[in-house]
Amino acid sequence: MLAYRHAFHAGNHADVLKHLVFVAVLRHMAQKEKGFRVVDTHAGAGGYSLESRYARQKAEYAAGIERLYDAPDLPPALADYVAQVRAFNGGNALKQYPGSPAIARQLLRPQDQLRLFELHPTDHRILASFVEDVPGAQVAMSDGFAALKSTLPPPTRRGVVLIDPPYEIKTDYTRTLGALREALERFADAVVVIWLPQLQLLESRQLPQRLKASADAHAKKGWLHARLTVANADTRGFGMLGSSVFVANPPHTLHEALAPCLPLLARTLGEGHGQHALERSTHA
Ligand code: SAM
Repeated sequence: MLAYRHAFHAGNHADVLKHLVFVAVLRHMAQKEKGFRVVDTHAGAGGYSLESRYARQKAEYAAGIERLYDAPDLPPALADYVAQVRAFNGGNALKQYPGSPAIARQLLRPQDQLRLFELHPTDHRILASFVEDVPGAQVAMSDGFAALKSTLPPPTRRGVVLIDPPYEIKTDYTRTLGALREALERFADAVVVIWLPQLQLLESRQLPQRLKASADAHAKKGWLHARLTVANADTRGFGMLGSSVFVANPPHTLHEALAPCLPLLARTLGEGHGQHALERSTHA
């Protein structure tokens, strides 16, 4: 039974960080003419209405994308991400939020491919109709972790893997680590983008170090880790403090692109105690 529905969280601080990085990675990939494949192992519904009862319930987007949507003078990578959200809204007021499949749909070219995996039957149905007219896109209602076998390496030997599980079950932590290793063993050049929650839970605190060790051993071009903290630790140990994005084989431009964005995000989304960190391996 899958309880997680991304519609409750669409456009929150975690989506902002994840999709900022995702847009920058796809932009970089599209600089070369040769096509590439995007594998989105946990795709969600594709896009989300911010006027739905789900989104309105906690209105997480109000402390996320809404604070950036009309902001002037954003650093280029952040401006580019906000422009993607604007494009999804037809250039009008913020009423909808693009999930990772919608962002990919906007940025992929005819020579590129999209492979989407979503286990929740309702989200899968919405997703399937969302991309049914997109050439090069395929959707499956199957386990995204298991999908790396059939999707990597891509025929053109250029590819991005987005791994974005809900982490509601503890096995998501070990399976994410295993998926990074499998992706890099199958295809050492894969740009692997992994979203991680920042929780006080042991599994959550350990995962970044484990991913770094795995990428040190298997990724040709090292790793990058960007973290955005928006809340103070709760004395009871509950609640998400923020999140981070880990990228194996990051584009060489990514660190420079993100550097001016993170302090701004920490100030704007951090509720007075925002913090940020941006690290990379020596050979990234
Ligand atoms: N990547 C999406 C985005 O950025 O817009 C959001 C994805 S959401 C955080 C995680 C999704 O993974 C949920 O829709 C959930 O139903 C789905 N899911 C959970 N376990 C899965 C699995 N093993 N394989 C594929 N999808 C799964």
